[in-house]
Amino acid sequence: MNREYYGKLIFELSRPGRRAYSLPANGCPEGATLLPEGLLRKSAPELPEVDEPTVVRHYNNMSTNNFGVDTGFYPLGSCTMKYNPKINEEMAVLPAMAGLHPLQPVSTVQGALEAYHTLQCYLAEIGGMAEFTLNPFAGAHGELTGLMVIRAWHDSRGDSKRTKVIVPDSAHGTNPASAAVAGLKVIEVKSMPDGTVDVEALSAVLDDSVAAVMMTNPNTMGIFESRVREIADMVHDAGALMYYDGANLNPMLGVARPGDMGFDVMHVNLHKTFSTPHGGGGPGAGPVGVRSGLEKFLPNPRVVKNADGSFGLSQSDGSLGSVSATLGNFAVQLRALSYILSLGCDGLAQAGRLATLNANYVKESLRDVYELPIDRVCKHEFVFDGLADKTSGVSTLNVAKRLLDHGYHAPTIYFPLLFHESLMIEPTETESRETLDEFIAVMRDIAREAAESPEVVKSAPHNTPVGLPDDTKAALSPKVTYFDLMQ
Ligand SMILES: *Cc1c(COP(=O)(O)O)cnc(C)c1O
Repeated sequence: MNREYYGKLIFELSRPGRRAYSLPANGCPEGATLLPEGLLRKSAPELPEVDEPTVVRHYNNMSTNNFGVDTGFYPLGSCTMKYNPKINEEMAVLPAMAGLHPLQPVSTVQGALEAYHTLQCYLAEIGGMAEFTLNPFAGAHGELTGLMVIRAWHDSRGDSKRTKVIVPDSAHGTNPASAAVAGLKVIEVKSMPDGTVDVEALSAVLDDSVAAVMMTNPNTMGIFESRVREIADMVHDAGALMYYDGANLNPMLGVARPGDMGFDVMHVNLHKTFSTPHGGGGPGAGPVGVRSGLEKFLPNPRVVKNADGSFGLSQSDGSLGSVSATLGNFAVQLRALSYILSLGCDGLAQAGRLATLNANYVKESLRDVYELPIDRVCKHEFVFDGLADKTSGVSTLNVAKRLLDHGYHAPTIYFPLLFHESLMIEPTETESRETLDEFIAVMRDIAREAAESPEVVKSAPHNTPVGLPDDTKAALSPKVTYFDLMQ
C-alpha cells in the first residue's frame, strides 16, 4: 500500500476544481431548470474534488488494506473460509442471470427457475432430505425457518405443549437466538470434556414439552458426534424432532448425510460449504431441507417442476408463510449450483475428505508445541488450548497477532469457551500441502520464539500498518469516528 493514500479519507485528498471526468456540454441554456423551484438544492453538495488517478489509487489502496482468502491462507475455525473457484463467480454474473428482476413473470425466467429447482434437488440428495427451499438469506435465517417448520408440524398435530428446544452449550450463538426468535425456550445441555454432547444429560431434560433438539455434526470442536443415531432415536421416541445445523457440512460432503443420521430438518450455509466468499458478513444463503412428511410446511412460494416439464411457483396450504420477499439470494444460489456441477459426486466427496485430512495433518504436525486438549481424529477443524509450554506467559492472543506479521489471517481465538486459550484452526480442503507446511513452520517458529524471546511475540504485530492496540483503552474510551481518531 502507498503511504500517500493510506488511512486518508477521499475528502482529505480533495483539491478545489479537480475533476475525474469531462463531459460534453449538455446544450441546456445556463440557469434553465426542469424541476420545480422547491425541489432544488440551495447549495451544491459537498463532494470530494479529485482527479482520476487519485480516485483509482484511493480505492485500489483501500482494497489492499484488507485480507481475504484470495490474499492468503485464512484458517479461521468455525467459518469455513475456503477458496472459492472463480468459475462460480462467472456463472453468478452472467448477464442472462444477473439482469433478471425477482418479480418478472414466471414464463420469462424459466432458465433461472430450472437452476433453482436443480439446486434444490442436489441439496436434497447431499443432505439426505426429501425437499429443500432456498428462500432463507443466511444460516441464522435458515435456523429460524427450520424451527418454524418444526413448530408448524407440532401445531398441525394439535401438540401445542412443545415450547422448548434443547441446544448443546458448544452450539453456535445463532442456535439459541433463532430458537428464541421462533418463540421457543432454550434448554442448554453441557458438553462432555471431549466436546461431544452429554447424552445422559440430554436424556434427563427430554420430555413432552420439547419441540426439537438442535445439533451441529461435526460439532464446534470438529469432533463427529458418533452417538447421533442413538440421540435421534431417543428424541423421536419423545415425540420431538432433530434439527441439523449444517454450517459444518464441509467434511461431510459426499461422505455422510444428515438425513441418514436421523435428522428431520436441516440448513446449509451456501456461503460456507458451497462457494460464496463471505468475509465481512454478507451475502449468504441458508437453504432449509426437510425429511419426507414435512414438505408442506416449508415457506411459500416453492419452486416446482410442472407435469409438462416447465417450472413454476406454488403456494402450499400448510406452509408457515413467507420468509423472503424474493426467492433468496439468487447469485449465491448460482455459485452453489456451479460449484456442485463442476465438482460432481466424486469431487464433492474428495472435498469432504480433504477437509478432514488437512485438519488432521496440521493438528498432528503441531501437537508437540501446542496443547491439544481433545486427542481424537477431528473432522474439518480442531482446537488447541494455547502453547504447550505455558511458562513464557505468551497467550493465544499473542500467537494470533504474531501470525499477522507472517501474512496469515489469525485462526479463531478464545472460542469455543470450553478452554481458556482456545485456538481454533480450520485449514479447509482447498489448501495445498506446501501452504500447510509453510503455516506449520511459522506456527513452530512462533512457539520457539515464545520460549526464547517472549517479548517479541507479546508485542506483535510488528509489520502491519496498525500495531498492537491497547484493548483496555479501546474499550474505555473508544474512538468510533474518523474525527475522534484525528484528535
Ligand atoms: C456460521 C454459523 C452459523 C450461522 O450462519 P450465518 O450464515 O452466519 O447466519 C450457525 N451455526 C454455525 C455452526 C456456524 O458456523
